[in-house]
Amino acid sequence: MYTVRPIPNSNRSSPMPPRTTPRRLADKLADAAAAYQASVVIPHCPQCSNSCCRLDPLVLELEWKQVRTFWRIEEPRATFDRRLATGQGPQEIRAANGLYYAHGKPCPAFNEATASCSVYGQPIKPAGCSDFPVYEDGGVIVADLRCEAVDRKALTAWIAQALGEGFRVAWSADPEFPFLITISLKKAKRST
Ligand code: SF4
Ligand code: SF4
Repeated sequence: MYTVRPIPNSNRSSPMPPRTTPRRLADKLADAAAAYQASVVIPHCPQCSNSCCRLDPLVLELEWKQVRTFWRIEEPRATFDRRLATGQGPQEIRAANGLYYAHGKPCPAFNEATASCSVYGQPIKPAGCSDFPVYEDGGVIVADLRCEAVDRKALTAWIAQALGEGFRVAWSADPEFPFLITISLKKAKRST
């Protein structure tokens, strides 16, 4: 059955519904992830039973300036790299592809007494620390369930609510690392 609609008045400009471009969608997802971090994750950090800053089991990716600052290294980078390569450097650091990876010992910037980051809010803080455990990447949300503050169902509901009607939210786990989940969006089918 057809519904008879009035013919639009061509002299009247009717506003077009806003298009959700991929970039705008990615921005919305990034905002939703940041809001989840601020409201749910960060308030839990002081009482976390296994802080990610202890770098076990997590691995922290660092640039040279961060390694130099956190480990208070005064020698030139080439000298430090040689030390690392011969097993004379900090045992918790590995070098690869121009970057460094720390694992197995608490990050030197972690204050155990206050369970807080001593470089919080400073440019030297590695980008990965701000992203963990929930971030937008290429139009999807990636979440790391090794963070005890992240609840898959609650996060999925949070994203669905942030994006509003018009989207269907689906999640999947990484086959190799099942604690990494991806939350993606599909346009909801319009009911006829
Ligand atoms: S694992 Fe999660 S809750 Fe614990 S300190 Fe890290 S971000 Fe905070
Ligand atoms: S830089 Fe700060 S947030 Fe990142 S691992 Fe170290 S203490 Fe934690």
